[in-house]
Amino acid sequence: MDHIYELAIVGAGPAGIATAVESYLQGIRDIVLLEKDENHNSTIRKYYKDNKRVDVEWKGQKVELDGNIYFIDGTKETTLDFFDEILSKHSVELQTHVEVTGIEKKDGYFEVHMAGKSIKAKYVVVTIGRMGKPNKPSYKIPPAIRKKVNYTTDECGSGEKILVVGGGDSAVEYAVDLSANNDVAICYRRETFRRANPTNQRDIANAIAHNEVRPILGVNIDGLEATEDGKIKVLFNEIEPEVFDRVIYAIGGTTPSAFLASSGIQEADGKPVHDEHYETNIPGLFVAGDITQESGGSIALGLNHGYAIACRINNLC
Ligand SMILES: Cc1cc2nc3c(=O)[nH]c(=O)nc-3n(C[C@H](O)[C@H](O)[C@H](O)COP(=O)(O)OP(=O)(O)OC[C@H]3O[C@@H](n4cnc5c(N)ncnc54)[C@H](O)[C@@H]3O)c2cc1C
Repeated sequence: MDHIYELAIVGAGPAGIATAVESYLQGIRDIVLLEKDENHNSTIRKYYKDNKRVDVEWKGQKVELDGNIYFIDGTKETTLDFFDEILSKHSVELQTHVEVTGIEKKDGYFEVHMAGKSIKAKYVVVTIGRMGKPNKPSYKIPPAIRKKVNYTTDECGSGEKILVVGGGDSAVEYAVDLSANNDVAICYRRETFRRANPTNQRDIANAIAHNEVRPILGVNIDGLEATEDGKIKVLFNEIEPEVFDRVIYAIGGTTPSAFLASSGIQEADGKPVHDEHYETNIPGLFVAGDITQESGGSIALGLNHGYAIACRINNLC
């Protein structure tokens, strides 16, 4: 507890790892990366399906990489290997199974609190993402069908009739992927998949053209009911109800407001307030990655945030 780290990073996703590696490359040696899960990158491990294509250009956002991390298109597996490699090459201390519960500013340092312990650090960067709490529908999910209403594809088998809800890249990828072994429909409140990146727009158009995915577009869902045989009756606003074996919501994640508030970080318009170097209202306390974006960011954006923060801490900008 007496040791004061130079830099503590909360959350070992792309933004957290980039902050650590870029800071290391700029000469900071005493860095600790705190991750609540059993390994780094729990969002990629949990929400990306196996062999998923990982695009640098995500959600149609073209991002020029500013820093020293050379990230290219790949798959879930190559991306995780890549992060393993850059972590091991830059001797960053990664502590896993440590969920940070709050950050307190003291005289000249921060105390970072976890269950049963605290550490001290001169600078703290919060990169906890938005997928700790995936967005859920506003209507109630009846308990009888809760196990069949999911936010990832982990529970899916084959031969199921599945409804994917959402129109962004994740929803499109889930629908196209699941259609190989299942009867899949995708429900989106808008008429087109314009929010998805060009590759995903092409893939979903192909899947629809070949009757592999059935589009239910320009349609809102009013609620879900359990049928007598344990299936899900989806009540649409504009069209007749339909019964599915499983419903998967891919509608993004939420800002961890309680965490930010408990650490004194101000929030406005659904995002933490920060300056152009990602420093919050509390000097020395930064935010990076998806939590800085209203509706989620991308790996490349997180890498750039990490670089900007490292430069700021080293007074290079
Ligand atoms: C299905 C899906 C597909 C995607 N595909 C792509 C793609 O192809 N290309 C792309 O660029 N982007 C993609 N994205 C978006 C990309 O994954 C995110 O933008 C990126 O992971 C954000 O990085 P981050 O470091 O901000 O947060 P995250 O990756 O969410 O990492 C946050 C980390 O913090 C940890 N954490 C949370 N709370 C705490 C706490 N209290 N204490 C300690 N640790 C904590 C979490 O366990 C996690 O490991 C996809 C997202 C989804 C959901």
